Amino acid sequence: MTQPDSPATVVIYSGGMDSYTVLHRALREGRRVHALSFDYGQRHARELEVARRVCQRLGMPHQVVDITAIHGLIDASALTDASRTLPEADYEETSLQDTVVPNRNMILLSLAIAKAVNIGADRVDYGAHGGDHVLYPDCRPEFVAAMQAVAGLAHFTPIAVHAPYLHHDKTAILADGLAMGLDYAETWTCYRGEALACGRCGSCRERLAAFAANGVRDPLSYSQRPDSHADSQHSSSGATDQQPDPAVSSAQGSATGDH
Ligand SMILES: [Zn+2]
Repeated sequence: MTQPDSPATVVIYSGGMDSYTVLHRALREGRRVHALSFDYGQRHARELEVARRVCQRLGMPHQVVDITAIHGLIDASALTDASRTLPEADYEETSLQDTVVPNRNMILLSLAIAKAVNIGADRVDYGAHGGDHVLYPDCRPEFVAAMQAVAGLAHFTPIAVHAPYLHHDKTAILADGLAMGLDYAETWTCYRGEALACGRCGSCRERLAAFAANGVRDPLSYSQRPDSHADSQHSSSGATDQQPDPAVSSAQGSATGDH
């Protein structure tokens, strides 16, 4: 149980798998977590809805910061410009350079550090991970180290920048979350904002590959799974109302985690 005088952390929480795991990792440390999400003009608000729902369930303070005012500075990305076609290639392929929002992590970390100072938190957590190093320059260890240095100087009381999965890939992050008993039905990964995850975009493919590598069926419903038939479409709200596959429940064992 988190105590009122526990150290506080600001977690940059997108609603996706990585930050969902980071958020629960911080809770496991006994930290008081303030979740911070950013509306920077994503093509859809699906992730933000999912993030809101999770924080409500956890009774956790959650702030969605509207930074759409800077949209004109970052709209060259397919993630933020609806007129551009989303690549469907594998995550690693260079066409996914189109999904890089310029300098995103410096922008988000900078605001999260300000929030931390504002509420007396001593740490900012975010989900940079090894699988992103090639594609996203601001997920590289050198970038994180530089941000840690600057966060130590940004205020008279140093703020730590904590990236617990910096040297892990998505498969390892998922393994850690499954070991914590987390329910990944309450995360959203797909780059598209449709009722069901598409199963085709680079983000869906990477997610499904991580589940496959863990030998677990992704509890999220997909309009098309690369290796099987489409999931039922009768549920329109998608992310959290799906019953996990029995195989998933057993694979997750008896751990109940934060639920
Ligand atoms: Zn997708």
